[in-house]
Amino acid sequence: TRTLAELDPEIAGHIDAELARQRGGLEMIASENHTAAAVMQAQGSVLTNKYAEGYPGKRYYGGCEHVDAIETLAIERAKALFGAAFANVQPHSGAQANASVMHALIRPGDKVLGLELAHGGHLTHGMRINFSGRLYDIAAYGVDETTHRVDMDEVARLAREHRPKLIIAGWSAYPRQLDFARFREIADEVGAYLMVDMAHFAGLVATGLHPSPVPHAHVVTSTTHKTLAGPRGGLILTNEPEIAKKVRSAVFPGQQGGPLEHVIAGKAVAFKIAATDDFRDRQQRTLTGAALLAERLTRPDVAEHGITVLTGGTDVHLVLVDLRDSPLNGQQGEDLLAAVDITVNRNAVPFDPRPPMVTSGLRIGTPALASRGFDDDDFREVADLIAETLIAGARAAADEEASVDDAVLSGLRDRARGLAAAHPL
Ligand code: PLP
Repeated sequence: TRTLAELDPEIAGHIDAELARQRGGLEMIASENHTAAAVMQAQGSVLTNKYAEGYPGKRYYGGCEHVDAIETLAIERAKALFGAAFANVQPHSGAQANASVMHALIRPGDKVLGLELAHGGHLTHGMRINFSGRLYDIAAYGVDETTHRVDMDEVARLAREHRPKLIIAGWSAYPRQLDFARFREIADEVGAYLMVDMAHFAGLVATGLHPSPVPHAHVVTSTTHKTLAGPRGGLILTNEPEIAKKVRSAVFPGQQGGPLEHVIAGKAVAFKIAATDDFRDRQQRTLTGAALLAERLTRPDVAEHGITVLTGGTDVHLVLVDLRDSPLNGQQGEDLLAAVDITVNRNAVPFDPRPPMVTSGLRIGTPALASRGFDDDDFREVADLIAETLIAGARAAADEEASVDDAVLSGLRDRARGLAAAHPL
C-alpha cells in the first residue's frame, strides 16, 4: 500500500528526474515519442499481475476473461487500423516480432537478404552477433554511393545471386520511402517471403501519410512505440491465414511465454488514439517538421561547413545529417546538441570514414516534438537552433584549440528551453 516515493525513494527520485529531463528539453531521437497518459495508465495497471499464456479463448491459465477481452480489442483495432486480416499483438518488442517471423517462416541456416546495418538496417536484419546473424545466412543490400537511396536493381541482382528464403525491407535510419511493390516482385521472382519491418514509420502508415506495406508484404512487423506513439512493444500483421498460423505458434510458445497484458492494453489504447483525426494531424506535423529541418540543414550557411543531409531531404519523420565533409563529427554534434538540451543520436552514415563510436552522422527525428504540439513555426525555430549549434560546432572543430563559446551555448539552450516550456508535457 505504500507509494513508490515512500517505498523506494531512490527509484522514485530517478523517475522524477527523467520526467523533468523529458519536460525540460527537446527529445529528437527518431525512434522515441511521448506516449499518452492513458497508455501509461493501462501499462501501469493490475494487468501486470496476470499470467495468460496462449491466446484469447485458448489460454493455459484461468481467470483470463478480462485479458481476453482486452487482447481481442487490441487485435481488432490493429487489424482495422492497418487494414490487415490478422494481427498478433503479443511480441514484447520489435526485435521479438522479427525473431518470431523468422522462426515462423525460415530455418536456421537459411539465406536472408536485408538492409546493411551501416546503411540504415536494424540489428535484427542480420547483424553478425545478433540472433539474426548467428542463426541465418545473411546477405545484405546497401544504398547507392551517390544517391544514398536503396537501388532496387541492385536488390534484384543480389536476390537472384543469393536466392534468399526471406527478404527484409525496412530500416532504422533511412530518410525515404521504400518501393514495397518492387520488393514483392523480386521476392516472388526468387521464391522468397517478403517481410516489411515498418517499426519506424508505422504511425505514418496508420494515418495514410506513408504507403502501406500490408498489401505487398507476406508479413509486416512493427514496434508500437516509435511514430505510433504507444507503449514499448511489437506487432505482427499479415493477410495470409497460413502465415498467421505459423506466426501464432512462433510467438507463443516459440519465442515467448506469458504475454504482457498490461502492455497489450496500452497497445489497444494507442491503436484507438491512432485512428483519430488528431493523431493524423500530429503525424502531418511530424512530417512537415522533418521537411523544414531538412530544408534548413541544406542551406548555404550550413553547407559551407561541410554539413548536409543524406539524400538532400526526407519523406519521413527523420533527417540524417551527413558530417563526412565537416570537421565536426557525430559524437561532437550529439554532445553539443545535448548541451543545448536537444537530444539526438549520432549515427554512422553509409560509407562512413569515421569509427563507429564517433561516426559522421546524426539521426534527428520529429515525432516526440509533434506529440508535444509543435507546429511549423516551432519546428522552424528548432531547425534554426540545430543549424546554429552545428555551425558553431564546426567552426570550433576546424580550429583544434577552440571550443564553442559558453555564452553562445547558453543562448541556444535558453531558446530550446523556451520552446519546451511553451509546450508542457
Ligand atoms: N525494427 C526496426 C526497424 C527498429 O528500428 C527497431 C528499433 O530500434 C526494432 C525493430 C526493434 O525494436 P525493439 O527495440 O522494440 O526491440
